[in-house]
Amino acid sequence: MTVERIHLAKPRGFCAGVVMAIQAVEKAAVREEKPVTVYHSIVHNHTVVERLSEGGRVHFVEDLDTIEALPDSGDTVIFSAHGISPAVRERARALGLSTIDATCPLVTKVHTEAKKYAREGYTILLIGDSAKHQEVIGTRGEAPENTILVGVLGKTGAGLHDPHTVEVPDPERLVVLTQTTLSVDDTRKTIEILKNRFPALVVPPSEDLCYATKNRQDAVKNIAPQVDAFLVLTSTHSSNGMRLLELAEAEAGRAYRLETAADLQALEQNGDLDGVRSLGITSAASTPDDLVQDVVAHFRRLNPELQVIEEGEWENIEFREPKKILPTQALPRTMQ
Ligand code: SF4
Repeated sequence: MTVERIHLAKPRGFCAGVVMAIQAVEKAAVREEKPVTVYHSIVHNHTVVERLSEGGRVHFVEDLDTIEALPDSGDTVIFSAHGISPAVRERARALGLSTIDATCPLVTKVHTEAKKYAREGYTILLIGDSAKHQEVIGTRGEAPENTILVGVLGKTGAGLHDPHTVEVPDPERLVVLTQTTLSVDDTRKTIEILKNRFPALVVPPSEDLCYATKNRQDAVKNIAPQVDAFLVLTSTHSSNGMRLLELAEAEAGRAYRLETAADLQALEQNGDLDGVRSLGITSAASTPDDLVQDVVAHFRRLNPELQVIEEGEWENIEFREPKKILPTQALPRTMQ
């Protein structure tokens, strides 16, 4: 039995923050005389990082102090869409590196809130899905003394406190902020638990969860009743992508993760798609859409009569290109 119908989630794939960050790297790689360095994966997708790395004009590092050891590195470092802590910014300055800050403006907004509430003496309960996620590290870094990490519902441990038991120094001066890419439903429930325990908890009026996260989750919910199974194209370290996978499984009963169309072979060998006539497909905010089209093409080769249905609206949001910031002081690049 072959797949007869594909429902493509819309929106899916690149969000405005990812487009801005990738373009910042591409333009810098062309403009700068020497190769540029990106601190952390610019976005959480293996294919994007591989494609940017081709040709040797872009390097990726997890530690600024390793840049000097690269044989041909220039002095320009680009901060990824997930944001960085002030400590990383300081280190870049101390090393005399020029910086391009490709942090998504929606992440920057959460950083601004963290600084504001910390200045006013609040304790910040920062809801995240991993203490190791780059965005959580960056936001926490804005106010490390004032921030307590709380796991989104069902995700505790490894540095994340349980919302049912977390202790705070002053329940009257408490605010909740969140990672931008969590499950909308689980985040709402987590905030409810905290609000019940701490009635004075301040919940900022504007949602920290970003528009792209919400829209991609809504698109999955819309399609789910019409499909037998879902395919979600995402890298495992994409938070928004893995939340889509969980949601797709909860809503449709069966969902499988693909990095690229090459992973379909294993699914088919395992019989995972046996009996599937109607298939939903979505992708993380950092997954290039040609990877989705490759998957569709695969099923079209198996069934030339395949029906592809794409309902919903694309987003019409763009973020401004970041500027290059030269070091404020002409420090020698000492790499101490
Ligand atoms: Fe920005 Fe949201 Fe995209 Fe993350 S998923 S880069 S917060 S728009």
